[in-house]
Amino acid sequence: MSATVNVNGTITDGATASISVFDRGFLFGEGVYETIRTYNRLPFLFDRHMDRLRRSAARIDLACPLDDAGVHTRIIETIAAGAAEGEAYVRLLLTRGVGDISYDPKTATTPSLVIIVKPLPEVPAEFQATGVAVSLVSVVRNHPDSVHPAIKSNNLLNNALAMQQALQEGTYEALMRNYQGDLVECSQSNFFIVRDGTALTPPLDAGLLEGITRNFVFEVGAAIDVPVAEAVLQDGDLATADEAFLTSTTREIVPIVKVGARTIGAGQPGPVTLTLLAELRRTAAALNRTT
Ligand code: PMP
Repeated sequence: MSATVNVNGTITDGATASISVFDRGFLFGEGVYETIRTYNRLPFLFDRHMDRLRRSAARIDLACPLDDAGVHTRIIETIAAGAAEGEAYVRLLLTRGVGDISYDPKTATTPSLVIIVKPLPEVPAEFQATGVAVSLVSVVRNHPDSVHPAIKSNNLLNNALAMQQALQEGTYEALMRNYQGDLVECSQSNFFIVRDGTALTPPLDAGLLEGITRNFVFEVGAAIDVPVAEAVLQDGDLATADEAFLTSTTREIVPIVKVGARTIGAGQPGPVTLTLLAELRRTAAALNRTT
């Protein structure tokens, strides 16, 4: 895997990059992160990612040591040090840093800021053309009184366990329910259904990550008169959905044609999903235009 890594301002290739075993990010998963992608080689919606990073960090009593411009400069430098062309995947990690093996935040005073850049893994075109199957897994999304799902935490074991079930079933993603039994989000993406022309996604208080792409889909929909709304979704809604799709930074919009054993709608990517995808790409390219 080719990667370029910036550890606290020092750029190396991925194979050489290292961090202390006493970093709390390693010891406890005590840190937060963002996954950013480029369009036209420029970070997309950077300000929104920084806002969310700071909100995640504040929830664990951690502060980013750099201002937004400082982080942006490091990202640009790390991208420039890597592959000369193509879109980039950027993982920005902020951890408690090195200290005693202790839960006391005061015993680790210098946060670690790591930026991993690698080529953006493109979603295979056939996934957009034919849609994907996802599993409805038994792993429950974190209770909001546990590690709140709004914290984009480096502690991803719950998500990894959910995805392991999907991988065992040979599907693309793991759709989870929340502690109340409502559908909530996938292991690495937000979840939408389409019914009667309206795209519906679970509300924030269902306990989920407020996806940057999820929010962007509301704006994209508004621009082309496709209604997008929040709604509590349950298993039964899968039976009445005309379409379904997932959203994430790296995957944009991926049509879902099957959830577990249930076929969604006509079993192929639907018109609302594909219209939103086309408009999302058009808007992203326009926002990150270089000339
Ligand atoms: N939910 C979870 C649990 C995720 O890990 C992700 C991916 N970051 C998302 C949703 C999608 O968020 P975004 O659109 O900001 O990438």
